[in-house]
Formats: sequence, C-alpha cells, structure tokens
Amino acid sequence: MQALNTFEGNVFAGNLLDRAGNLRRNPDWLAAQVCAPTARFLPVWQLKVPVAADPSPSLLWLSASDTIARLDIANPILLGIDDGGIPYFALDADACGAPPSFAGVDYQEVRAVAPNIARGEAALLAQARSLVDWHQRHGFCAVCGSVTQMRDAGYVRRCSNMSCGAQHFPRTDPVVIMLVQRGDQCLVGRQKWFPAGFYSTLAGFMEPGESIEEAVRREVWEESGIEVGEVRYHSSQPWPYPSSLMIGCFGEATTDQITVDKLELEDARWVDRDVVRLAIDRVTARAVDPFSQSGAEEGPGEPELLVPAPMAIAHQLMRSWVYPNGT
Ligand SMILES: [Zn+2]
Repeated sequence: MQALNTFEGNVFAGNLLDRAGNLRRNPDWLAAQVCAPTARFLPVWQLKVPVAADPSPSLLWLSASDTIARLDIANPILLGIDDGGIPYFALDADACGAPPSFAGVDYQEVRAVAPNIARGEAALLAQARSLVDWHQRHGFCAVCGSVTQMRDAGYVRRCSNMSCGAQHFPRTDPVVIMLVQRGDQCLVGRQKWFPAGFYSTLAGFMEPGESIEEAVRREVWEESGIEVGEVRYHSSQPWPYPSSLMIGCFGEATTDQITVDKLELEDARWVDRDVVRLAIDRVTARAVDPFSQSGAEEGPGEPELLVPAPMAIAHQLMRSWVYPNGT
C-alpha cells in the first residue's frame, strides 16, 4: 500500500458523533433527547441546509425552543450524541411549506457547504441529507403499498398494515471509483457533460453478488476495454446524492489498448503522471467545486488536463498516485 501520511480522509467522512444505535430504539430515551435543553436541530429544506455566511460559513443549528416554535418536530432524525452528551437531530423542514427563515442565513446545497466547514460537521450533512431524502421517497411499503411510519429515530420505516408489518431500512448504494495505472500513466475518462478538458477516474455502481475487486474490473473493462489485475483499496467517501458510498481503489492495468464505450463515456485516455500532478496542483490552489471549473476560465495557454477538486475522492486517488509519499 502506498504511504498516505498526509491524507486526512475524504469530505463527508469523519463523523464524530455516537449514533447510539441501541439506545435510539427506546422511545423514552429518544423523547428525553428531543426535549433536552441542549438538543440541536438542523432543518433540511428541499435537501438544503441553513448556512450563516458571516464571519465565516457555519451551519445554523436550532435550539429546542427555536425548533418547537418554528417546526413540526414529530419525526426528528437522530444524527448522534457528542462527547458532551449533546444530541444532534435533522428535521425535514419541507412539511413547513415555506422554509424557516433567519436573518443572514441562506439554504445551500450540502456539497457547496461541506468543504468550508469543520470535517465532523460536514459528515453530519451527508448523514442528514441522505436520511431526509430516503424518508421522503419511502412513504409507502414496497411489499404491500400501505403507508409506512418512521421508527427508531429515523433508521427504520415500518409498514402500517398490521398483516404486513415489513420494516424498511435506509439504503446505501456502493460505487467503485478507481485509479487504473500502467507504468507511469493512469486511465481517465470524461462524460459529455463535463467541462471542456475535464477528466476524472472511472467509476460505476456495484451490482448484486459482486465483490469490490470484481466491480472494479468489470467497470473498467466495460467503459474502456482495459483489463485490470491487482486491485487495492484506498479509502471511501459517503456521497449523499442521494445515498452513495464511493469506494476508492487503485487498479493495475494488464492491457493498454483503449476501446471507449460511447454509451458510458465520451472519451478515455492514458495521461502521464507529470500532467496529472500539474492538474492536481492547479485545482488545489484554486479550491473550487469539482464541476464548477471550465477551460474557458483558464484564459490563454489552456491546460492539458482539468481534474476534480479536493472534495472529490477522485482527486484524492490522483493525489495519492502523484504524491505517493504524501508530499
Ligand atoms: Zn407492507
């Protein structure tokens, strides 16, 4: 395994709270947490979260009294308990009609906020967004079609039909994302909708009955015609759009002739390590969202390659490859 001594983890990973998985099943314990004077609530409105811009971006957590005055808190979703015993909850604010408004606060996409706040807090955004979205999409039983009801602080929905009683659990969809190398080159690809000059590592959803290694080899073969031998795990990243878990790997190519699947990719190509290093350095210095950059912004002397920003696990895979000693 390559040395990763400066890799501090991916954005949306690093959740510091105790999820209290056993305690949250107890309705009395949960009610006490909701009513605790220290409890903090994050309203999620249209899957966006409230952010105060001044003096630096920070999430707006509501107190219990703020929340009761402004929101229906019949179904709070427990995010977890911190070291000091403070419970944190997410609330689906869409039921309120208009978003609860606060002076100096805007509702923002979590991927826009996450790189600018503390790592542990960004991780809560992934948890909150995925769970609120899941509840909104799973109001009916997949077995019998009856209404489902939230249970266990938001980690179960139970069918209300007594003769069915099916329990439904929040889903996480594994995605493999891999940097495939061959000597001093790595394989990158682009979708049609990417900005001009922008390439990333290949990626794809895992399928049932498939190991991580098998999914890496299958996806790379399908998209590029490249065969992969050894596969090594690097790191993972929750990606709450709506509920993916990105599983980052390195793959060792055993062939080099690319055949692009035009249904999946617009282009795929091998790029030299030096070119990737330049692109990584450039996007790190600019600190932009992975997909907000375009070649046009670069002006004269268009760069050879544009790559995802640091918040994307694709960036971290590339960084680990071009700086194997963590420089
Ligand atoms: Zn049912």
